[in-house]
Amino acid sequence: MDEQNYLTLLKKAKTTISKKVDSNRFQVPKPEIIMEGKITILKNFKDIVDTINRDKEHIYKYLLKQFGVSGDIDESGRLILKGKILEENVEKAINEYLRIYVQCYECGSYDTELVKQNRNELVHCKACGAERPLFAKREIKSAEEKVEEGKEYEVTITDVNRDGDGVAIKGEYTIIIPGAKKGEKVRVKIEKIKKNYAIGQLVK
Ligand SMILES: [Zn+2]
Repeated sequence: MDEQNYLTLLKKAKTTISKKVDSNRFQVPKPEIIMEGKITILKNFKDIVDTINRDKEHIYKYLLKQFGVSGDIDESGRLILKGKILEENVEKAINEYLRIYVQCYECGSYDTELVKQNRNELVHCKACGAERPLFAKREIKSAEEKVEEGKEYEVTITDVNRDGDGVAIKGEYTIIIPGAKKGEKVRVKIEKIKKNYAIGQLVK
């Protein structure tokens, strides 16, 4: 990355940080679970869905899949899971959903919305204005992969951001690589790591 690019990115990062507003004010309700025999009921499913402003069906299907059970949404909006699911596991699955589909990776807020950009869906943060690609399922599996400053990695550029910088996903990191083009396999050196994204430099 040349100095000009680096300074631009740095400036952008600073603007983002200063725009950071009360991300903590936006609270996702803690799941309220009741067990009835072999059925697990998530009482405040509707509240959770309304708060995070995501498609009810999508969350519903995601949770059923995580637990491998069938289910239903009753008339009062409660989620019925046909199986005994521990409260902590429901909480864990919801947190995972939030991390993948809802959370802003720059300021950590859940006050986000999905926006379409060309054919891609992005998570747009209403708290700080940052955007990130919504990850595809297959990319979630490698969430344990670590990214460290100063190290080099082979990555595939899966997207390009608004500024035309290449974007690659590694584990839970989005790596922004100026000068890289979509579809390219590149070697990148990590320059800076932010909360869940990193800035990298193309290695020739
Ligand atoms: Zn944010």
